[in-house]
Amino acid sequence: MSEKFEALKQRVGASIMNTYGRYPLAIAKGKGCSLYDLDGREYLDLLAGIAVCNLGHCHPEVTQAVCDQAGQLVHVSNVFFQEPQAALAEALLETWRPGRVFFCNSGAEANEGAIKLARRYMHAVRGEDRHEVVTLVNSFHGRTLATLTATGQDKVKDGFHPLPEGFVTVPAGDLEALKAAIGPKTAAVLIEIVQGEGGVKPFPADYLAGVQAACREAGVLFMVDEIQTGLCRTGKWWAHQHYGLEPDVITSAKALANGLPMGAVLATEDVAAGFVPGTHATTFGGGAVLCAAASKTLEIMDRDKLAERAARLGDFAKALFQDVAECNPGKIKEVRGLGLMIGIDLAVDGQKAWEELTKRGFILNLTAGSVLRLLPPLVITQEELRRFAQALDDVLGAM
Ligand code: PLP
Repeated sequence: MSEKFEALKQRVGASIMNTYGRYPLAIAKGKGCSLYDLDGREYLDLLAGIAVCNLGHCHPEVTQAVCDQAGQLVHVSNVFFQEPQAALAEALLETWRPGRVFFCNSGAEANEGAIKLARRYMHAVRGEDRHEVVTLVNSFHGRTLATLTATGQDKVKDGFHPLPEGFVTVPAGDLEALKAAIGPKTAAVLIEIVQGEGGVKPFPADYLAGVQAACREAGVLFMVDEIQTGLCRTGKWWAHQHYGLEPDVITSAKALANGLPMGAVLATEDVAAGFVPGTHATTFGGGAVLCAAASKTLEIMDRDKLAERAARLGDFAKALFQDVAECNPGKIKEVRGLGLMIGIDLAVDGQKAWEELTKRGFILNLTAGSVLRLLPPLVITQEELRRFAQALDDVLGAM
């Protein structure tokens, strides 16, 4: 490690709360699919800030949109109307279905909003005493008290009890268990289409269709967390669109403003009627600069056909990694994913493989202990994916 890095590490350790197990790397600059450390060494970014910078780092058109808007209007309370917000809401609904949007600042806040909306819709619109939300084991929905309770992983709950009431978690992929958990108190089911933090696990189409059908039959809301899977990542605007599903509510964040903090709850008009003035709010949600960045992000995704690109390059990458698996028998259990959301489930020491790849200049992460997770900018090239596959082959070959 360089002296510059060690000095920064000391300062961070002495001043910032110790909530992250950080990689031994400090990033000073990003451009496209490249990141640069304090000494100017270049890395190929296969993580995009965990599915955030889908257009690549510092996309010049988004940067320009941010600068232009920052010179015009940065913040005004949501008690006023603003055009950039309307433009973004319209563009978002174009990618989904008619409805209404609530803007917020993060994924957790979007899911928190969706949970509140489900409860209030049942109570205020349907006049029913329903408040429970059913979620799946291994899911990830955020770190606020409600969303960590919704999350189907014990490690995020450790030390935070007592947790809010009203959440039921059932085994993922088990339709009968889900149906059994839906009862007279259920307001909604909340799922991811591909579990991201849970190890890049896509669900079979018939399971997903079954979840929607179970929700319809029981008269409860079907809500999809598209925070990681949305915005072209998996090869469609939204991952549920691969399966012809029609959720009542979806949540978005991460890639929405290509790196600036923004979240959104999208709901059908009927469900959105659960919120009326005074029932839900957030100071910064839908700020003008964020909306300008997000509108430009959506415009570029559409113009440059990034969903199609993610589908095409996702297939290309999976075939490459499958070849690596065949050349290294017994070292890769499975290559899976949807579009450019890819998991390489290793049968060898995941931490060691990840460290070796980082040393060679590739940024990706390790999730669920053994799964190398790739969420590259959607502008990544075939040549860059080939370079990574070659490095993976070398690393596994030596293990
Ligand atoms: N939902 C999913 C599926 C996520 O992957 C994440 C973050 O990784 C979240 C919710 C929480 O988002 P945020 O970290 O912006 O609160």
